Amino acid sequence: MSQPLSVAEYKATVATLLPAARTTTLPLEQCHGRVLAEDVTAGVSLPPFDNAAMDGYAARAADIAGASEQSPVELPVAADIPAGRTDGPPLAPGTAHRIMTGAPIPDGADTVVKVEDTDGGTERVRLFAAASSGNSVRRAGEDVTGGDVALREGTLLGAAQLGLAAAVGRAELAVKAGLRVLVLSTGTELVLPPEPLRHGQIYESNSIMLAAAIRALGCEVDVVRSVVDDVDTFRETLAKHAEHADLIVTSGGVSAGAYEVVKDALTSEGVRFTKVAMQPGGPQGSGTVNGTPIVTLPGNPVSVLVSYEVFLRPALLAALGHVHVDRPVVRARLLERLVAPAGRRQFRRGFYSPPVAPGAGSVTGSVTGTVGPRGGPGSHLLAAFTQANCLIVLPEDVIEMDEGAEVDVVLLS
Ligand code: AMP
Ligand code: MG
Repeated sequence: MSQPLSVAEYKATVATLLPAARTTTLPLEQCHGRVLAEDVTAGVSLPPFDNAAMDGYAARAADIAGASEQSPVELPVAADIPAGRTDGPPLAPGTAHRIMTGAPIPDGADTVVKVEDTDGGTERVRLFAAASSGNSVRRAGEDVTGGDVALREGTLLGAAQLGLAAAVGRAELAVKAGLRVLVLSTGTELVLPPEPLRHGQIYESNSIMLAAAIRALGCEVDVVRSVVDDVDTFRETLAKHAEHADLIVTSGGVSAGAYEVVKDALTSEGVRFTKVAMQPGGPQGSGTVNGTPIVTLPGNPVSVLVSYEVFLRPALLAALGHVHVDRPVVRARLLERLVAPAGRRQFRRGFYSPPVAPGAGSVTGSVTGTVGPRGGPGSHLLAAFTQANCLIVLPEDVIEMDEGAEVDVVLLS
């Protein structure tokens, strides 16, 4: 095996391996979390028409200029305009229309007096306050001008963006499709519940983690939960399930021992097995099998999740068209001394607590939070990972970090 690659080098290798996602058209209901693949031009202005911002009475500012608590102005109520009324008559001088929030302002009216400033009358109304022209009127186009681009290609579609797409009249959007990913776990020791464990066997967990994480990005995932460590069986299983995959992700069988099924089966296929200068997640492999990109992760569950975070997640997000592909990194003060291996970047599971404001005061930008490790460095310690909300990064040149030292922390949630 050659010289270890740096984390950055291998991250770039995986990123360039993945194909860019296709574009697909989906109903808005299925677009959340996806990246927009078109400019959305507003089919209507928002609001589409001048409308009332309050429940109250539409009037002419000039007719009610002198109104006050002591000397109310009384006007006949000539029409009733609930929201949704499309045939509202014009407002004649010296009259008022009862109007509800969102209802169109009648021609001739230029102001709305809120109902709280009136006696609420339905035949005649007494108005206890003046209102200047434009009061409680939401102007057509104040939010969006019809014909303008409301959402740009590349926008990440969250709740607000989808709301806007709906508001400008769209039912569907062109978005980046998810990749189709085959997740395959190797290991003769792997068993699925409810089968009881015999001595030497364990329950399979990597495919559950990987599928959950990858699906959460908007990809379709097929799962083969366990393939025995036999090269022919592995090859056959891969051939059978990989046909429609844009990406294959395996776990296990890539380290330095014997019975490394993935390595044994794919080295001759041109998949490159390499060491990355990190812990956990040192042994890695990637390349293509029959034209399909493949990323072969190590077997230990913590190595799998850390490898996913460091290499796969940013590569998948980039392939799906995201601009922000990396988790936020913050500085934090270590609550405990940590030791790390020389020459490898160590990712320890940790719990980050943001800075606490002194009293009820505000937090200043320069104050760092604190971080404590959860579990040791062992890559089998999955339970500790469930207690973590971050990865503590101990750089390659660090062999120990004292309590109180500042470290980089990758926020996972
Ligand atoms: P390997 O890289 O295949 O040598 O696996 C390293 C360690 O991870 C071994 O202890 C395996 O039993 C364990 N392991 C491998 N695959 C899985 C899996 N899918 N679920 C849980 N543990 C696994
Ligand atoms: Mg194995």
